[in-house]
Amino acid sequence: VDRKQFFKDVFCLTIDAFEKTKIGQTLTHTVENSLKHRPPGAQQTENAFLELCTGCDACMSACPVNVILIEDLEKRDPVIYSEEDPCIHCPGTPCISACPTGALDRRFGTYQRSVK
Ligand code: SF4
Ligand code: SF4
Repeated sequence: VDRKQFFKDVFCLTIDAFEKTKIGQTLTHTVENSLKHRPPGAQQTENAFLELCTGCDACMSACPVNVILIEDLEKRDPVIYSEEDPCIHCPGTPCISACPTGALDRRFGTYQRSVK
C-alpha cells in the first residue's frame, strides 16, 4: 500500500467519522450557519474585493483581537465570523491601515459586508 495514500485514507476516514459524531455535527452546523463578513473597509462588491486582495495576511496580523481569519488557505481571503468573534471596532482600524492593496479602504467606512 502506498504510504501517502494510506495516511490520506486514514485522515479522510477520521474526518468522516468525526463529522458523524454529535459534536462534529454541531461544529459543522455552526460553521455553515455562521454570519461571515469581510473586514471593515472592504471594497463594496465581492468582485472588486477579490481582485485587490492578495491574501497577504496583513489585516489579520494587524488585528489586536485576532478576529480576522484567513479561512481558505487556497483562496487566502480574510473573513470575520461575527457571531463567534465579532470585530470590536478598535481605534484607528489597523486592519484597514495595514492593507497594502486597497482591498480594505477607509473610503468605504467601517461597514462589514457579509459574504457567503
Ligand atoms: S477594526 Fe480592529 S477589531 Fe475590527 S477587524 Fe479591524 S483590527 Fe480587528
Ligand atoms: S491586508 Fe488587504 S490584501 Fe492583505 S489579506 Fe487583508 S484585505 Fe487582503
